[in-house]
Amino acid sequence: MIKAITGTKDILPSEISKWYLLETTVRNIFINYNYKEIRTPVFEETLLFARSIGEETDIVGKEMYSFVDRSETSITLKPEMTAGVVRAFIEHSLGKQQSLNKLFYIAPMFRQERPQAGRLRQFHQFGGEALGSKSMALDAELIGIAFFILKNMGLKDLKVKINSMGIPKARASYKIKLREYLEDKKSDLSEDSRKRLETNILRLFDSKVESDMKIMKNAPLLIDYIDDESKNDFDKVQELLTKLNIPYEVDPTLVRGLDYYTKTTFEILSGKVGSQSALVGGGRYDLLVEQLGGDPTPGVGFAAGIERILLACENENSLKIPADKIDLYIVRLDQELTSEVVYLALGFRMKNLSVDFDYLDRSVKAQMREANKLNARYVLFLGGEEYKFGKVNLKNMESGEQKEFSLKDVDEMIKAISL
Ligand code: AMP
Repeated sequence: MIKAITGTKDILPSEISKWYLLETTVRNIFINYNYKEIRTPVFEETLLFARSIGEETDIVGKEMYSFVDRSETSITLKPEMTAGVVRAFIEHSLGKQQSLNKLFYIAPMFRQERPQAGRLRQFHQFGGEALGSKSMALDAELIGIAFFILKNMGLKDLKVKINSMGIPKARASYKIKLREYLEDKKSDLSEDSRKRLETNILRLFDSKVESDMKIMKNAPLLIDYIDDESKNDFDKVQELLTKLNIPYEVDPTLVRGLDYYTKTTFEILSGKVGSQSALVGGGRYDLLVEQLGGDPTPGVGFAAGIERILLACENENSLKIPADKIDLYIVRLDQELTSEVVYLALGFRMKNLSVDFDYLDRSVKAQMREANKLNARYVLFLGGEEYKFGKVNLKNMESGEQKEFSLKDVDEMIKAISL
């Protein structure tokens, strides 16, 4: 039997209500903040990700689904959304049409990581990107949007962590300091960390190896080396978060893996999803648009993992989703009334009611069982003696009350059902 690829998951009808709820919450909250939805292609030229995310990152170095297509172009399934959004922003001159573009998305992403709970190879993210302003009001706004979406999903065990990565120039002199500190400790580092020392030194803070963590505990911190403008901006973000009543903590070791971050970085973690605890990650990227060939345009954004959020919801038991229901089930008392039932159902469906009937030639008893299984609010009996006189019976399944209607009076029945 052919099975789904490792690390991919079917989202089955029994789970879809949770997805709808989250997607509706995401859309509503972004729209309240006047963000507009953007949809970009699932695949892009590989070069776009290499240039924006950085050659030395885990994503570009080992996790991308890349292939050469029939026209010899190297193509990659998008591992994250910011690069694609920025590419579209430049390509369509969005910055010329509007000085500030506030955008959001909900889309699948692809990374060839080692699958485990909360870590998939095709997963889904929603996120926001604001392009065109240096104002820290946007950094705080995006942290707030992510936080309020999670709160709206009923999550309580959340931690907002923030840090500032300064501007690359300040970062460069810090990296020299960090390297100096690590110079005589190299041999005590794990193999992975020794490699990262050469390629992506800041990522040593992310190591979960005990001996690495011990060494990194006393390492110099980026926040002590950042420039004055970044420092002031970091104070401002904190002031705004306090004003918005968003609890946060400063984590000087929060150095996100992607090359394009400047100034604010942040993560929101859940205490309820085990090792893959990061639900949201984001930050400012003032140099990325220029780096990808556009006019210099500051930007800030975040991405949130939908599967992980739903896992956290499950573990916190935070969602009270009502059972699926339909408005009406039509029970046929005579099997030959097929065209009548199809026509009758159409009338109700066109009026926005959810309606179903039997397609399996089942007995009346089995049809009633089905109506109960589907949680039908009403059942309409079509056929039998009264049908000969142009009448049908409508039963309210909650009260058990039954009422006769003329078959022609569909509007009256709709009124009764819609009450
Ligand atoms: P990142 O772009 O790596 O910061 O990811 C942002 C968010 O996407 C993370 O906080 C996770 O919630 C989610 N995420 C990232 N990678 C995966 C993955 N492989 N599987 C599931 N969710 C992921």
